[in-house]
Amino acid sequence: MVKITGFSTRDIRFPTSLDMAGSDAMNPAADYSAAYCIIHTDSTYVGHEDEGTNNNPVSKTFTLGRGTEVVCAAISSLAPMVVGKELDTLSANWGKTWRYLNSDSQLRWIGPEKGVIHMALGALVNALWDLWAKTLHKPVWQVVSEMTPEEFVRCIDFRYIDDVLTPAEAIQLLRELEPSKDRRLHAVLNNQAVPAYTTSAGWLGYTEEKLRSLLQECTELGYKHFKLKVGRNLQEDKRRLEIAREIIGYDKGNTLMLDANQVWSVQEAISWMQELAPYKPLFIEEPTSPDDILGHAQVKEALKSLPGHRIGVATGEMVQNRIVFKQLLQQGALTYLQPDACRVGGLNEVLAILLLARKFDIPVVPHSGGVGLPEYTQHISTIDFLCVSGNQSILEYVDHLHEHFLHPARVHDGYHVTPLAPGYSVEMRPDSMEGFEFPGVERKSWWRSDEAKQLLHSRMTYEGP
Ligand SMILES: [Mg+2]
Repeated sequence: MVKITGFSTRDIRFPTSLDMAGSDAMNPAADYSAAYCIIHTDSTYVGHEDEGTNNNPVSKTFTLGRGTEVVCAAISSLAPMVVGKELDTLSANWGKTWRYLNSDSQLRWIGPEKGVIHMALGALVNALWDLWAKTLHKPVWQVVSEMTPEEFVRCIDFRYIDDVLTPAEAIQLLRELEPSKDRRLHAVLNNQAVPAYTTSAGWLGYTEEKLRSLLQECTELGYKHFKLKVGRNLQEDKRRLEIAREIIGYDKGNTLMLDANQVWSVQEAISWMQELAPYKPLFIEEPTSPDDILGHAQVKEALKSLPGHRIGVATGEMVQNRIVFKQLLQQGALTYLQPDACRVGGLNEVLAILLLARKFDIPVVPHSGGVGLPEYTQHISTIDFLCVSGNQSILEYVDHLHEHFLHPARVHDGYHVTPLAPGYSVEMRPDSMEGFEFPGVERKSWWRSDEAKQLLHSRMTYEGP
């Protein structure tokens, strides 16, 4: 029996803007960051922070630097709802627990089911999954994949989606894949379940030389799928895509994907992509606002009818909840669906989204380009493959900052290595936490260094309109 006795939050920021890692058309200078939610319990096994067991139940959201403190504050507003509760009670009927955590009427007002409060819900929910999986000595993907279809469906709150997917229908969809699950489990245990794609070469702030050498390096590592950021300048995009195609070729079995990070309006997205169509991308990711369901449908329709090459539309990393995903699917607005592990309300809502994608037969390609995201999404893609779609899909792997994690995501021979450590894999090394905590402690955190002071100062003096 494990009882939750308290919680803490930590604001961890890496100064990735210094070398332009993570730069795209909308986010030219991101500092990859994480708002951590750490659950304290009365159990010696799951450990208190001060015992140094490296086994703390934790979760994180992904942020870009400034604003991480806002997410930490929202976690602190929400987390008291689980303090004093038994883990067994919370996990006995997960769907009910999720509805409870999402229903505080005062906190709901600053959502509902969107924005910072929803990210905080995701952090709290994922921390509970991490705790639960650690007490079961299993990775999260295994905990979920060993559930019966009925238990799986009981994790989900079907409010607002049961007009297109009922619990009974969801159970039926899961049952269809049960007989072939063992075969897929074999692939999972042999690290052949989740093929990887890379964005490491494609950040917009990189020079042409860096683009060229990183792409070369990635092809040598066995990658077959490459994603490049676009949308800042059309001529520059054409030049960068030319370089990319020079290296990965058109007929060497390599696939190119593009990501505009919401920088365009609908018509601009269509005309810009018509110009880039000769480079034959598989899809354009986030062509416009993630809230514009009909706009996505319009872009998809326009790009479908291009002569010679059909370009798909992908979105999801900033789609707020299962309801918007439902409508994107109902409108036929997506070719690929990209849920984010921590923007929506944690794993329970991700499971709902996987089921919706299965119903509409749309492949799931989770958003994974951020610190700690591949650590989460490797579980999600494994669950999708084993239990929900039964199909292999590609999963983003960005080779940044993994050294800070106790159980980092890894890619081998073009596949994600299946995580086997108990939990949800996002626990960070204590020295990394201390070394990059914001604002941090003098002489311990990088953010107290002279280099950091310069960076912080330069941001305070940017020119406004
Ligand atoms: Mg993206």
